[in-house]
Amino acid sequence: MRLDKLLSNMGYGSRKEIKKLCKSGAVKVDGKPIKDSSAHVEPNTQEVEIFGEIVRYREFVYVMMNKPQGVISATEDMMEETVVDLLDPEFFAFEVFPVGRLDKDTEGLLLLTNDGKLAHELLSPRKHVPKRYFARIEGRVTEEDGRAFRKGVTLDDGYKTLPAELTILVQGSISEIELVIYEGKYHQVKRMFEAVGKKVTYLKRIAMGKLELDENLEPGEYRELAEEELDLLR
Ligand code: URA
Repeated sequence: MRLDKLLSNMGYGSRKEIKKLCKSGAVKVDGKPIKDSSAHVEPNTQEVEIFGEIVRYREFVYVMMNKPQGVISATEDMMEETVVDLLDPEFFAFEVFPVGRLDKDTEGLLLLTNDGKLAHELLSPRKHVPKRYFARIEGRVTEEDGRAFRKGVTLDDGYKTLPAELTILVQGSISEIELVIYEGKYHQVKRMFEAVGKKVTYLKRIAMGKLELDENLEPGEYRELAEEELDLLR
């Protein structure tokens, strides 16, 4: 791949700007200054440096975030802070976007990537990728609620949900549950509980497909996926 293409793809400027940077000696390949920005490099085996900083080239990036409450699942917004705003500038050039949405007040696993194909696979309604949530619910969640979710409940707009699996963790005036759903309607978990007369007071996504949220990530923290984690999504 051409050196100027690699660096401009990575957000280091236009080809013209990169030409100047190369001329100035700011760019090195395998430790040697390269003055010709049209030079060919092997991104996977050669080490490219700019101003002494190593450029980690990859076409796609996959970021696991523990989305905090109070930010929206969008790439940009005039008024509100977005999940993309939380990322380090090194990710800007990749133009990542969130794979699906979590509500502003929902926490937990959110994948951000620039791999449109994988995002499409994960979000396609035909794939029924499971999503597991932890929630606190006002009131006593019962086995009957579990049976209702297993059969499907009718939401406020008349839509009947696909069978979902409820696990009751704590039963009390505030109950704690896990719910696995196989679709992703707007506000789905909250609306499913509304359908059985209950209110979600806290919601966190803990898994998507076979990928589980890394418990070491505090809300607002993120990291790139390991290769094995990526394989779980494919
Ligand atoms: N269901 C909801 O109600 N909200 C979310 O953010 C995700 C699932």
